[in-house]
Parts: sequence; structure tokens; C-alpha cells
Amino acid sequence: MGGRPLLVGLVGTGVGPSLTPALHMAEGRAHGLDYVYRTIDLDDVGVAPERIGEILTWARALGYDALNVTHPCKQLVIPHLDTVDAAAAALGAVNTVVFEADRTVGYNTDAPGFGTGFAEGLPGADTDDVVLLGAGGAGAAVGHALLELGTDHLVVVDLDVDRATALAGQLSARHPNARVDASAFDKLAVLLAQADGLVHATPTGMAEHPGLPLDEGLLHPGLWVADIVYRPLDTALLTAARRLGCRTLDGGHMAVHQATTAFELITGRAADAARMSRHFRSLVG
Ligand code: NAD
Repeated sequence: MGGRPLLVGLVGTGVGPSLTPALHMAEGRAHGLDYVYRTIDLDDVGVAPERIGEILTWARALGYDALNVTHPCKQLVIPHLDTVDAAAAALGAVNTVVFEADRTVGYNTDAPGFGTGFAEGLPGADTDDVVLLGAGGAGAAVGHALLELGTDHLVVVDLDVDRATALAGQLSARHPNARVDASAFDKLAVLLAQADGLVHATPTGMAEHPGLPLDEGLLHPGLWVADIVYRPLDTALLTAARRLGCRTLDGGHMAVHQATTAFELITGRAADAARMSRHFRSLVG
């Protein structure tokens, strides 16, 4: 870092309102680092996401030390990296890029972020039989994390059945000892009746997409319910689940832990997860 600030960016579209810069910079300050974290909104700068390779070249040339990469560039960025960490390569998605002296390295902190957040927020929860609702990029990371946590039977459900089938196939190939199925949305009643838990990984429940992703009559008190939506933290799904007496996990746990892992990769220092969590929750309000 040699006397100049550590410079980090968040690249994607619609990243302006992101809480990540404030979260990283506060943690950096607590470590005594001169840590500057800026958003690079591709819409604002008028650069198509397909030109992410040029953004990497310029970011390195302009002195950036690292980038977080988000929608819609997590897959697009991969061909432009010198090295991709094995877990990120298997997921086919990178959300953290570190500019080392002689190479550019990609990582994915979403999957470990969910895994760590799950262990923190739902300790001892049974993970044998889990339903994953949402087979997008975040669903892929969560599915991988659940199988790493020891899930024996994972069922992937998405309104787009082809997406669910494709993700189930990828996860199954990487976790041959587990049973990973895809299922149609109208089978949720049967699936949830016998499941230990439900993870919700669609955008439903975000401030821009309010409401429930499924009929709340399908929930039951024997089910734990994890939401990865974190704006707001108390989604309609979690509110309904709590009313029934379900154990719940909000999306803040994953959001904080993907950030703690990224902070560590970028700075080489151990993040204080409890401090980052308190700060995150004060920012979300
Ligand atoms: P995405 O658009 O790639 O995928 C969303 C998927 O959900 C799509 O396949 C879509 O067909 C499906 N879907 C939408 N509504 C559905 C419904 N009612 N039932 C079943 N399937 C439905 O989005 P993504 O990148 O995977 O992100 C999803 C959400 O995850 C985001 O909106 C964000 O709120 C959240 N997220 C949270 C974190 C975190 O750290 N907590 C990290 C990443 C994303």
C-alpha cells in the first residue's frame, strides 16, 4: 500500500445505492487503513457490461487494488482474469477481483458468505433436506454453500424450470454424494411438507419487488426459513414465517459475510464480523 490509499471499486449496474462502500471503508478505518472504496456504475459511465475487460485494464492502470463485481458482470468478468480461485471457477461467477503485482485473481465470496452466515444465524439447524427457491446467480452460490454444509437432498425450484434444471445439474456434478433435484413450482406444497428448511433466493420481497414469493399457507412451524433478500431485512416471507413460529435467517448474514471475506482478500487483514454486522444493520435501518 506504500503511503497511498488502498483503492477499491464496486462495478456493476445500479450500484449507486449500495451499502458496500460504507461498510468496507468503516472497517478499513477501524484497522487504521487509508481505504477508499468507490462505486463504478456502468450505466452512469456509459460502458456496456460486455466491456468489463476494459474496466479491469483501466482500473489497474488507474491504481485500483481490487474490485468487487456485481450484476451483470459476475460471469462476464471471468475470461479477463489471469487466475480464478477453484470455488469461483466451479460456480462460474466471480464477485471479487484482486490486482496482484503480476496477475489478476478472481474469487467468489457469496457462497462462503451464505455458509458462514447460516452457521452464525441458524446454529444447529437440520440441513438434510432443503428447498432452494431461485436458481439465479445468488441461488447458485447458496446451493453450493448448502451442499458444503452437508445437505443430503437439495431441491431447486424456479419459475423458470429450465434454470432450475440447469443449476441442479451443475450442483449435482460437483457434489456427487448428494441428491440434487429440480422441481416445478407447483410441487412446493409436497416438497416443503417434508423439508427441514427453505432458502429464498429470488428478488421477491425487495423494496422494488414487494410481496411473498410463495403462498404463506405452504409454510409450517417445523421449517426453518432463510431469506437472502436484505433490503429490507424483515421481508414479508420472514414476517410470515416468524408468525408461524419458524426459525428464520435474514439476508443480512450473507451480505455481511460476503463482505468480510472480500475485505480479508483485499486487505489481508481479518475483518471484525460483529463490528461489520452492527454497522451493516445500522445502515439498513
Ligand atoms: P437473478 O435475477 O439472477 O435470479 C433470480 C431467479 O429467481 C430467476 O431465475 C427467476 O426466474 C427466479 N424467480 C423470480 N421470482 C420467483 C418466484 N416467485 N418463484 C420462483 N422463482 C422466481 O437474481 P440473483 O442475482 O440470483 O439475486 C436474487 C436476489 O438475491 C437479489 O434480488 C438480492 O436481493 C439477493 N441477493 C442477496 C445477497 C446477499 O448477500 N444477501 C447476495 C446476492 C443476491
